[in-house]
Amino acid sequence: MKHRSMTVMRSGMILVSAALFAGLVWMLWRRIPWAAVRYGILALCAAIYAVVGLWAWYQRRQVELFADDLCETLDALISGRTPEGFHPYEDSLTAKVQGKLLQYFDIMNEGKRQSQRDKETIQGLVSDISHQVKTPIANIRMFTGILLQHELPREKQEQFLSTMEGQVEKLDFLLQSLIKMSRLETGTFTIHMEEANLADTIARAMSTVWAKAEEKEIQLLADCDASFTVRHDPKWTAEALGNILDNAVKYTPAGGSVSVTVRPWQFYTRVDITDTGIGIKKEHYNDVFQRFYRAEEAAAQEGVGLGLYLANGIITRQKGYISVSSKVGKGTTFSVYLLS
Ligand code: ATP
Ligand code: MG
Repeated sequence: MKHRSMTVMRSGMILVSAALFAGLVWMLWRRIPWAAVRYGILALCAAIYAVVGLWAWYQRRQVELFADDLCETLDALISGRTPEGFHPYEDSLTAKVQGKLLQYFDIMNEGKRQSQRDKETIQGLVSDISHQVKTPIANIRMFTGILLQHELPREKQEQFLSTMEGQVEKLDFLLQSLIKMSRLETGTFTIHMEEANLADTIARAMSTVWAKAEEKEIQLLADCDASFTVRHDPKWTAEALGNILDNAVKYTPAGGSVSVTVRPWQFYTRVDITDTGIGIKKEHYNDVFQRFYRAEEAAAQEGVGLGLYLANGIITRQKGYISVSSKVGKGTTFSVYLLS
């Protein structure tokens, strides 16, 4: 409807302008006495009118072609094809607009892909968490059922209650780890970098595993200059080192040893945590830093698979990194590099 009224308006304007032009020519015709001049002016006016008309027609044609190209480009992009005749490096208006449209569609598609990846991550996370939560909850349910329905001797009751306490602790540990993970991923935990004593941080981390190491008769050794300082966040670095030490003690058989050594380099300070444990296969060096990854060999030990993921996140937030080298059956070294 709008298009029709535009056409009517345009035709009207052409008629009016032609009438005005003819009027002008008629007036000139009547005022000039010489026939040759009259005919000359008439021819000139006709030529001007023809040229202006042709130029207007040419411009309109160009706009139509441009609009056609644009529609074709949009059709191609909507159906996921690269537009035909697309020459991104051509110096034409169509090529420029096509290029911009292509860029816009790329950004839109990337947004779509990102939202699909986010969905998959959330799905994976929910399935991992429900998998972790299922067993302790099932155990607590089972033991509660037995305790409620049967008259058990006091000794048995205590045994069940202590198992249930262990399961509750596991759930609590999982919850705490998930909170840390979420804070890490959303960037809501703040790192306070300061020139601090590294031996103190290592001592803080080691204090979390003393008891477990003693229980398994694992020797804990540390080699660090007592006055050595490096820029780091003492609280979070102790947490990261604590997670690595916890693994070292956990995955080392009784009677083994775990040592911490500090090597100051020019650009980095390297903290090595070496154990004489079960080791890690080379093809799983990267996997151990993935969320919820646990090797088959680790199944005998308690754990949710978040310790190294958190440790790695904490150290990379400080612009450092962690590497691993290991020999299956012989032991593992995790090296933490802190920017000097
Ligand atoms: P938690 O979340 O309780 O720490 P976890 O110890 O299983 O559980 P991570 O600390 O993230 O999880 O370690 C991931 C996996 O890497 C472990 O399950 C284990 O298979 C392997 N791993 C880590 N450290 C060692 C080590 N020192 N020796 C052998 N395997 C290790
Ligand atoms: Mg661990």
